[in-house]
Amino acid sequence: MIPIAIPLLDKEEADAAREAVLSGWVSQGPQVAAFEREFAALVGAPHACAVSNCTTALHVALTAANIGPGDEVITASHSFIATANCIKYCGATPVFVDIDPDSYNIDPDRVAEAITSRTRAIVAVHQMGMPCDLAALAAFADRHGLILIEDAACAAGSEVRVNGHWERIGKPHGRIACFSFHPRKVITTGEGGMLTTADAELDRKFRLLRQHGMSVPDTVRHGSAQVIFEDYLMVGFNYRMTDIQASVGRKQLERLSELVARRRSLASRYTELLGNIEGLILPFEPQWARSNWQSYCVRLPDGVDQKVLMQRFLDQGIATRRGIMCAHRERPYSNDKRPHDLRQSELAQDHSILLPLYAQMTEENQVLIAETLKKELQV
Ligand SMILES: *Cc1c(COP(=O)(O)O)cnc(C)c1O
Repeated sequence: MIPIAIPLLDKEEADAAREAVLSGWVSQGPQVAAFEREFAALVGAPHACAVSNCTTALHVALTAANIGPGDEVITASHSFIATANCIKYCGATPVFVDIDPDSYNIDPDRVAEAITSRTRAIVAVHQMGMPCDLAALAAFADRHGLILIEDAACAAGSEVRVNGHWERIGKPHGRIACFSFHPRKVITTGEGGMLTTADAELDRKFRLLRQHGMSVPDTVRHGSAQVIFEDYLMVGFNYRMTDIQASVGRKQLERLSELVARRRSLASRYTELLGNIEGLILPFEPQWARSNWQSYCVRLPDGVDQKVLMQRFLDQGIATRRGIMCAHRERPYSNDKRPHDLRQSELAQDHSILLPLYAQMTEENQVLIAETLKKELQV
């Protein structure tokens, strides 16, 4: 059986988790602080704040940006449903706009059309690790006084070229970037998330929001020779990461460059193997972007039934996934007003599949997958 993905976790991560367990400090503590410092350094961000997952990171980001009832937030429907849900958590209205069919990312021209007097923020997704058009979106957000939040759940290790230099996603290029360390992403802590920003005041708010609005972290009280009484400065949440997760994350960070290089070479091998299948559209990487290839998405030739094909693959021991879902087709959103056309989003969901891609994959695995696809498409 070839799975869709397997995380690369080894003895180093297991040993690190064991040490954290035996250290006597298992919730948010010194390992979380070290993971934050190392993540910030790796992506080139002034501040990084760890949380329990990327859904909570997005909720914290929107809350820290004071997004609330009456506000509109422009985003893609074509994303994992958490992107839209976080906007609903704040009582704000997600305004879905269509994607660019080549990149599967939000189309800046459609964003421009969707702006109203209530628009406060844009949540732009780096879908499947492919950077979205940050230059256009950031310029646009600046011009209209909007807060640009990057849903970088899948994009740890992806890069964009800015003024001739490659920079990692998370620097950040918007006001805030949010990452996921779910096992389906390129690096994992089991569950986990991270917010990065260049804004010290926002970072201070993230730290309050993730821990009940508490004025003094546990590590400070624990280490103090004086008795400290904490205050609760706002209605916060419990969105803490544990030191066990962070200790695993630190080891995963050491692997990130190598994992991305491996995934990039697997993706280019797919491109070679699948390049001559008529009607099959391979993923497109703009020259200003370097994807971490969190997923490799192919668009099927006209007339091919996605689900039938996926079942044929599964019957032959190869797992695939359908293209990225559209939130507006799911029950919590299906009755909402939908002022903007989402045809490209729907087509992408219905006519693409994700192929297995993970570091431990072999050349034989890839050849088998390519041959199976050719055989099933009868080319
Ligand atoms: C995975 C994912 C999320 C949610 O991340 P969790 O860490 O599982 O909460 C949000 N947005 C996108 C685009 C994702 O792919």
